[in-house]
Amino acid sequence: MKLIDGKVISESIKQRVMLQVNELKEQGVEPCLAVIIVGDDFASRTYVNNKKKTCEYVGIKSLEFAMPETTTQEELLSLVEKLNADNSVHGILCQLPIPKHIDEKVILNAIRPDKDVDAFHPVNAGHIMIGDGTLLPCTPAGIMEMLKYEGIEIAGKNCVVIGRSNIVGKPMAMLLINASGTVTVCNSKTQNLAEITKEADILVAAVGKAKFITADMVKQGAVVVDVGMNRDEEGKRCGDVDFEAVKDVASHITPVPGGVGLMTVAMLMQNTVTAAKIQNNK
Ligand code: NAP
Repeated sequence: MKLIDGKVISESIKQRVMLQVNELKEQGVEPCLAVIIVGDDFASRTYVNNKKKTCEYVGIKSLEFAMPETTTQEELLSLVEKLNADNSVHGILCQLPIPKHIDEKVILNAIRPDKDVDAFHPVNAGHIMIGDGTLLPCTPAGIMEMLKYEGIEIAGKNCVVIGRSNIVGKPMAMLLINASGTVTVCNSKTQNLAEITKEADILVAAVGKAKFITADMVKQGAVVVDVGMNRDEEGKRCGDVDFEAVKDVASHITPVPGGVGLMTVAMLMQNTVTAAKIQNNK
């Protein structure tokens, strides 16, 4: 079994981003990411801090807009519009979840598609479906980078994605289809899940259930990508895959922590630089 090391691969992406940041700066463009956080969700705060720290590491300027839980939809929209119009801001990210009294869709759809570094806007989702996306959702794009780094061929392979969310499962399936994989997407209503997963050469688990994928669900020699971010019964961080058991069956496997999660942040940096290039015709 080979461990797919998110630490090593995300670092290589960050080094690539750093070079692009320096090139842009030499041309008078300072890539800038605006991060909006509404309310005081603990996990969101941790994610935002991590994104800001990574921006600093690669040389991207970051702006934080921390708004109170009581922020109205109009107030949040007017901030997004202000950032849309600000030429010095290249990427806009609204950390999810946002408070329930605000319509998440309205906010995400208000972000200018060429500044939408999460790539959640329907315009960017459409580009991914057509296969000509430039801003790609960070988690699936990060997984594609992992597969590429490891030299794992996708064309002609049976790929099974468990989960159909708009942020992970669906775009993951699209990227694998675009890479000529034969793709099956499963959801909570899927019958005989284990029979399907056992056919997978590449298995991507994005379910959100601790240790959901057991060794008997995995084909010998499969590539197993674990997107899940859960806690086990002892409160320890774990993925959707029962790592200890599945590692003996898989040819390649991503760990949690130290896997896909690190790639997500690195790809956000890449998207910010890509957005800065597009907006400045570089
Ligand atoms: P989500 O929106 O809750 O989607 C979960 C998906 O799993 C749904 O499509 C659901 O099916 C499916 N599912 C649930 N139970 C199932 C079952 N028994 N059999 C088959 N499918 C089942 O979650 P998400 O946002 O995609 O995230 C998934 C996981 O990845 C979470 O643990 C999340 O924390 C993690 N995540 C990690 C990163 C990272 O950077 N590492 C980024 C994003 C998310 P239905 O559609 O039928 O309900």
